[in-house]
Amino acid sequence: MSGTLYVVGTPIGNLEDMSPRAVRILSEVDFIAAEDTRVTIKLLNHFELKKEMLSYYEHNKAGRGNLIIERLLKGENCALVSDAGMPAISDPGEDLVRTARENGIPVESVPGPSALVTALAISGMPSGRFCFEGFLSVNKISRKQHLQSLQNETRTMIFYEAPHKLVATLRDMLTAFGDREIAIARELTKLHETVLRTTLSGALARFTDDPPKGEFVLIIRGKEPQEQEEITLDSAVALAKNRMANGLSASSAAKEAAAITGLKKGEIYKALIGM
Ligand code: SAM
Repeated sequence: MSGTLYVVGTPIGNLEDMSPRAVRILSEVDFIAAEDTRVTIKLLNHFELKKEMLSYYEHNKAGRGNLIIERLLKGENCALVSDAGMPAISDPGEDLVRTARENGIPVESVPGPSALVTALAISGMPSGRFCFEGFLSVNKISRKQHLQSLQNETRTMIFYEAPHKLVATLRDMLTAFGDREIAIARELTKLHETVLRTTLSGALARFTDDPPKGEFVLIIRGKEPQEQEEITLDSAVALAKNRMANGLSASSAAKEAAAITGLKKGEIYKALIGM
């Protein structure tokens, strides 16, 4: 029987956010697949754990993934961790989880913090509907296309960004979206955690000559939904005329237009006949 792949969330800054269950799972598995073993060893040392680690990152994931799957199939249990937050979320892991599932290997969640959800929760931005856009590409054309594709997005948008690219990204966002509201969540769960609520132009003014340090999540307000078009008698009559052109009688056309617009059938009919 195969072992289990545990997808283990780790702190995004504050070690007190490591859950007791995450510590237990790391202590019980046969080995840990870690994005960077130099980072994970610090976590293990802090919790006085000793465990075999295999590095599993973007550029070795194909070969290393096969090895991990083979060991799981032989019955070993593996914990997958990234440097911070939930594995597979803008971090290595998606492929490994998919291959494990394809091979019938049980996959269990050991949830921990994720920067995107943490940032959204304390941003004060609308959180009912949102979309996560990850990192923008470094390729100029792809990032422009990515941002353009979001111009009419009405949900709150969440991006990850590295500090040295923040100013360029804010500039590209201002071009694509206009001067939208933004929340910049910095150094979450760490000593200097801050959330700056401003506009894209305000953020540019703030950071252009004073590039920020630390880790950031950018939360942009979605486009305001268009005001609903006002329904006038003229537009209802136009609708009814259109139905008549498709073969309906004036009475049936007025009835349909009334059902769609919510205006009175009699009023639409009178206006239609008067024409
Ligand atoms: N898997 C992680 C998660 O679940 O949040 C994300 C990993 S991704 C490689 C790293 C990015 O997450 C950073 O560039 C930054 O945008 C964001 N991030 C991670 N930790 C953060 C923190 N403490 N404060 C703000 N942003 C953070």
